[in-house]
Amino acid sequence: MSNMDIKELQAISDAAINEANAVLREINLSLHSNPEIMYQEHHAHKILTDLLEERGFDVERGAFGISTAFRASYGSTSGGGRTASVNLEYDALRDIGHACGHNLIATAGLAAVLGVAAAIKRGEIKGRIVAFGTPAEEGGGGKIKMLRAGAFEGMACSLMVHPMSARSSHNNAYSSSMCGSELTIEYTGKPAHAMAAPWDGINALDAVTLLHTSVGLLRQQIMPTDRIRGVVLSTGQQSAVIPEKAVARYCVRSASLERYRVLKQKFVNCMDAAALATGCTVKATWLPAYWDIRTNDHLAARYMHHVQRADPDQQFRSVEEQKRCPDCYSTDQGNVTYAVPSIHPTFMIHSPDGAVHTREFTAAAATDDAHRRTVDQGKAMAAVALEVLVDDAFAAQVQAQYDAMDLSVAKDPFVQ
Ligand SMILES: [Zn+2]
Ligand SMILES: [Zn+2]
Repeated sequence: MSNMDIKELQAISDAAINEANAVLREINLSLHSNPEIMYQEHHAHKILTDLLEERGFDVERGAFGISTAFRASYGSTSGGGRTASVNLEYDALRDIGHACGHNLIATAGLAAVLGVAAAIKRGEIKGRIVAFGTPAEEGGGGKIKMLRAGAFEGMACSLMVHPMSARSSHNNAYSSSMCGSELTIEYTGKPAHAMAAPWDGINALDAVTLLHTSVGLLRQQIMPTDRIRGVVLSTGQQSAVIPEKAVARYCVRSASLERYRVLKQKFVNCMDAAALATGCTVKATWLPAYWDIRTNDHLAARYMHHVQRADPDQQFRSVEEQKRCPDCYSTDQGNVTYAVPSIHPTFMIHSPDGAVHTREFTAAAATDDAHRRTVDQGKAMAAVALEVLVDDAFAAQVQAQYDAMDLSVAKDPFVQ
């Protein structure tokens, strides 16, 4: 694939990332100081695509029918070879800015693809690196839309990283996430004068009360890794009128897609039973489910190796411990892991006062120290991507583990 050996290629990549550091820092801070929520990431989309184009990437803006998504590729598979891909997230949270550190995810991804591109050029590699701009991770399921539009077809791997605080997590190359979805439930009954003719009414608030109660009882028989949480959004306004409408929002999460299917059915039974008991009708609107991460062990092992090569101070627990530790977040990268051999490692930034989704973490995501750690993750991802591109045996191992996974549950319309 190339006349150079892998270590030379990785050294070229590291050097290119070091050279780009000032630009990477600028982009990082520009994203951080211009936080944009899901599907409104126009500034992020512009500065990232402009830079990639300037660096010789083939850029498709507004890709896959999403105005703030992009695909930027470098290299070619026309003479044979594989395509490695890296996901760049850049959406922020409402009111609290980059409290999930997606500015760092974009920076790490950008570093990685610049490094790989330099190695492809100098090493005359047959193969391609693709940067996907993946908007709306926070609730919008951007990667799910991109998956459905075929974005990840033909990718030999999908790499990304996510910053975390040591308050809630640790460096984890084999990180897992929860599988789940959120839904809005609307019960509709019939209003009536609550004193004069209550027997004419059908009480929608009673339906929500029954749902909360039966889910509360259900919790006794669910698994420790299951989560069901809900709030009431609206109900009647006057005590003397039987409430005609009641709206609640719930999330239902489990450790795996198989378990999610079971838990979701139990939840649906509680929801329908409340409608039956009260005589209300029920309408449930589910968001696309975020599936659990199915980490590719081979990619994770090499990633961990290369993080420690970039910064020997970055500590990892044993592989068994990393795999055992369930992380209680959800990400649409989980869905990507069902389609392509993938990783979603977590890396620690120094945020002593707050975990992700706090203002304290927002501040931590702007520091020089967080930037330095982020760039190290970029170097590690670039090194892994290069191995996928030039090492046939390694690429075959990666693909073989993916091919051996039983993904049949993912075809069930009930879990989409
Ligand atoms: Zn988040
Ligand atoms: Zn996040």
